Amino acid sequence: MNPHELLGLDNAAFERVADHLQTRRFEEIKYQFLPDYHRQLERGTVLTGQTAVRGFPKVPRTLMLEGGIARHFEDEIYVEEKLNGYNTRIARIDGVTYGILRSGRICPFTTWYARDRLDLEDIFDAYPEQVLCGEMIGPDNPYTPHSYPGVESLEFRAFDVRHRESGVPMAVTTRRTVLEAHAIPQVEHLATVSPTDGHEIVAKVIEDLDQTGREGIIMKSPCGTKQLKYTTSSANQGDLAFAFSLPFDYGQAFMFRRLIREGFQSVEFDDDAARRERATSLGEAILTSMTDAIEAVDAGERLAEDHAVTAPPAVVDDLLNHLREMGLRLDIVEDVSQVSERHVNFRKIVQSSNDKIDHYLDGAIVKE
Ligand code: ATP
Ligand code: MG
Repeated sequence: MNPHELLGLDNAAFERVADHLQTRRFEEIKYQFLPDYHRQLERGTVLTGQTAVRGFPKVPRTLMLEGGIARHFEDEIYVEEKLNGYNTRIARIDGVTYGILRSGRICPFTTWYARDRLDLEDIFDAYPEQVLCGEMIGPDNPYTPHSYPGVESLEFRAFDVRHRESGVPMAVTTRRTVLEAHAIPQVEHLATVSPTDGHEIVAKVIEDLDQTGREGIIMKSPCGTKQLKYTTSSANQGDLAFAFSLPFDYGQAFMFRRLIREGFQSVEFDDDAARRERATSLGEAILTSMTDAIEAVDAGERLAEDHAVTAPPAVVDDLLNHLREMGLRLDIVEDVSQVSERHVNFRKIVQSSNDKIDHYLDGAIVKE
């Protein structure tokens, strides 16, 4: 079958993205993936031999719960927790399991985790053409570290099961039952609500998640095809604090979008006192992370993103190579090897924030 037939696209549509596919090897396979967004095909789609794995679709966001929910959904809505980690698709291709990143790159570390730490034989025997989608969370995370109570190192939480080639999701209740039956850890189901008055319950859910510093929710239609995301203030402000701790390395759009989310959330949620409180904590999130960064550079420190991983030595080697291939500069801070495990603390070096802060501290003129 041609790739376009495999994906159910007409040839002309496929031809429009074909030039944007990149080719890589991983172990025994050669594969192509689509690293950027295109109208014709989901970002992160993978093609290899007679198999395709569609990218996980972009999840739309609402800035207002009441209006967004009423507009987006017709039937009941399943509210699941949105976890803050990195998106992973796990697929079995010609009998071999692979861990795929959002971009479509096969990741050696995620692949090792899927093969070694998860027990997926039964689910893939029962559903060989499905891809298991989920979030890798926890502190020992080479991409998006975030701490969760009870998550000591790195864990997987499934949030979707989709047909590899078509991307059609399994219905939410079926998926939850199937995952449960196969003992695969999954995201929490927090509530089931209706489109007309669901927003009040959802607002309460968000307030509870916010209290415990959790990221937010993804609302889903029963068939799983419609998704809508919404995040807590602590996630918005946490992202802002992080972005302003590396102020010249994060796109300004990243920061602006989170400020806008806070504005709309304040209008929907806050009375006067709550708004003042939000203003203070938002200001602190931005300012103190930025002043900490400036003072750190002033004191001669280098700003960077810190990560830790623990895995078999060969897997850590492959991961570090994979990250370098993706263009990252790494500094290994700590490297402890035991027989079967190697623990590495490393820093992803950021350039612009260090250089610009240094420059401005020196009194360089700002061009604006
Ligand atoms: P996108 O919206 O394209 O995914 P993004 O990187 O900005 O882009 P997020 O804002 O983190 O993504 O929101 C969507 C992501 O949330 C999903 O891609 C998925 O990795 C993650 N996620 C966490 N929990 C869930 C869940 N319960 N259901 C679906 N996705 C979830
Ligand atoms: Mg995320």
